[in-house]
Amino acid sequence: MSSESEAIPPVQRQLIVFDFDWSLADQDSDRWVLEVLAPKLRRKMKDLKKEVQWTDLVATCLKELHEQGGTREQIEDALRIMPFHPAMVRGVSALKSRGKTTFFCLSNANIIYINTILKSKGLETLFDEIVTNPAEWDPSGLLKLRRRIDPSAPQHDCKVGCSPNMCKGDELDAFLKRHGPEFDRIVYVGDGSNDFCPVLRLRKQDIVFCRRYRGLYNLIQPYEDEGRLHCGVRYWTGAWEAEALLDQL
Ligand SMILES: [Mg+2]
Ligand SMILES: [Zn+2]
Repeated sequence: MSSESEAIPPVQRQLIVFDFDWSLADQDSDRWVLEVLAPKLRRKMKDLKKEVQWTDLVATCLKELHEQGGTREQIEDALRIMPFHPAMVRGVSALKSRGKTTFFCLSNANIIYINTILKSKGLETLFDEIVTNPAEWDPSGLLKLRRRIDPSAPQHDCKVGCSPNMCKGDELDAFLKRHGPEFDRIVYVGDGSNDFCPVLRLRKQDIVFCRRYRGLYNLIQPYEDEGRLHCGVRYWTGAWEAEALLDQL
């Protein structure tokens, strides 16, 4: 099994891909906002999770929050106090300052949440590109959230298990096409089951920094044990361990 102490060789042109919730950030933004502002809606989200597509469910809860008097300012305040580990801020800032690395955020959250949180951490210029669900404030203070792939548009045909709103594997491939020539190495930082699809597309010179004990970990482990994963794997639990991995890049 790969360990934190195993050296990562240097490269010239590198891409780092960050999942957002529980990977770059130390919480889940969709759930957090409701935990802070409307626990009854948070409960509803938990109860309906298996029946309603996730992005649609979050959009519905945001509408109800607005109807109950929840304001834009309250949502922004909740996002700014969401757990985000200082070690992660340090790790990504140091990597960015060394140059040679392109930063790509690939997330099932939404653009308003991500930009609000990044700004509050002084990381608003970290990413070269962010791919996530579109969202916008309407003048009344309602946060209008939509799926990245609209339900009326042609749907992706991912067989790995990505949610209908977005196939992260397809989005990674599309990013790589937009940003050729090939990167010498891709590093993917993720935790969730929806990170499994892009990780399966990584090459042997690529590495996944997989957070332990969450969806991605459970899916990856048997693959790695059986030697069926193309890319290398490094595991981390706390952001301070992820920082040590980032420092090797
Ligand atoms: Mg995640
Ligand atoms: Zn997929």
